[in-house]
Amino acid sequence: MKFFRSLLSLILVLATTLLVSCSGPQVEIPTTYSPEKIAQLQVYVQPIEAAREQMTTLGTLLSEQNWVDSITLLHGPLGHLRADMLGFSRSLLPKDQDAATELAREVFSHLERLDATAKERLVAQAAIQYKEALKDFDAFLNLVPKAS
Ligand code: ZN
Repeated sequence: MKFFRSLLSLILVLATTLLVSCSGPQVEIPTTYSPEKIAQLQVYVQPIEAAREQMTTLGTLLSEQNWVDSITLLHGPLGHLRADMLGFSRSLLPKDQDAATELAREVFSHLERLDATAKERLVAQAAIQYKEALKDFDAFLNLVPKAS
């Protein structure tokens, strides 16, 4: 009986060893940001943070119903925003990429609608699109990891 028991444990050990060696090297998907990655992202995010400042300027222009300068701002300084946000999204961890991409698309669809409503000088609709764009923009920036 003792012999069988030790035989059984030997088989178990062999089976476990076999299982472990068959699984091969595992590709590790990172789930947290390293301090180096955070520092890198803080640099990448700078043009997007600059665009966030432009959004505040845009808010002032809209409240003054300065449509010409609002549209100029949307096409000029904020014109690169879509590419910047989508590019940045791809630098995030896989777990954050989908949300970031979705928010970047949201921001841009609101800005496109804002552009259209500014051209039509629709004060109330423009204000709604601006507010929505800002909300999605800030949610996007909240996904950026910060050094603790
Ligand atoms: Zn939205």
